[in-house]
Amino acid sequence: MVKLVLLDLDDTLLDTNMNRFLPHYFKALGEKLKDFLPPEEMIGLILKATRYMMNNRREDTTNKQAFDDIFYNELSVAPDIIDPVIEEFYEKDFPRLKIYVNKIPLTRLFVEYLFLKKMQVVIATNPLFPLRAIEHRLEWAGISDFPFKLITAYENSHFSKPNPFYYKEILDKCSAEPQYAVMIGDDEENDILPANETGIRTFRITNEDNYIYSEKGTLQQCFDWLKTIL
Ligand SMILES: [Mg+2]
Repeated sequence: MVKLVLLDLDDTLLDTNMNRFLPHYFKALGEKLKDFLPPEEMIGLILKATRYMMNNRREDTTNKQAFDDIFYNELSVAPDIIDPVIEEFYEKDFPRLKIYVNKIPLTRLFVEYLFLKKMQVVIATNPLFPLRAIEHRLEWAGISDFPFKLITAYENSHFSKPNPFYYKEILDKCSAEPQYAVMIGDDEENDILPANETGIRTFRITNEDNYIYSEKGTLQQCFDWLKTIL
């Protein structure tokens, strides 16, 4: 019996195409922060702090705290000077990146069905971004109005994908046992293997015919599969 459904966001519920999206995102962010550091150096610093955050293994440190340790330490600008500019970026500039992604028509119906079935639903997107950036993407996907049990963001998470502890933390927060949970995502390394390792059933959104590590198929096929198990 399934009670908890974990949903990856990018390239699962939203056609983000991360490889295309990220360069636009970093370019816009670098441009916004150019008064503090030349854009290329700023992006380098953000990537360095992101790598450090991804390797965070301290369960008393949120991903944001890990990121900030490197970011503010290496930047000779006080947080109260740069933070308002970063906040403004996520309020005003980030929404303009919407033009680089595509909505998936089935997504809303799919999520609606999960709530109809009384599932607890978690947006299990890699928590390397501020919540605000994830809220915008939920809006782009057409699902920002649902009462999700949890949206993993860098402020509230202590681990990131592909660390299995990321999935354990979600189960703990939802007081759920792994056998009652399902993880749906497109990425083998980040979504499927570590969730499997945690004991969570998985469905991979993929066109690969021969994929063997989980249930697999399109979002429509995932929908059909869920109807047989929920
Ligand atoms: Mg994804």
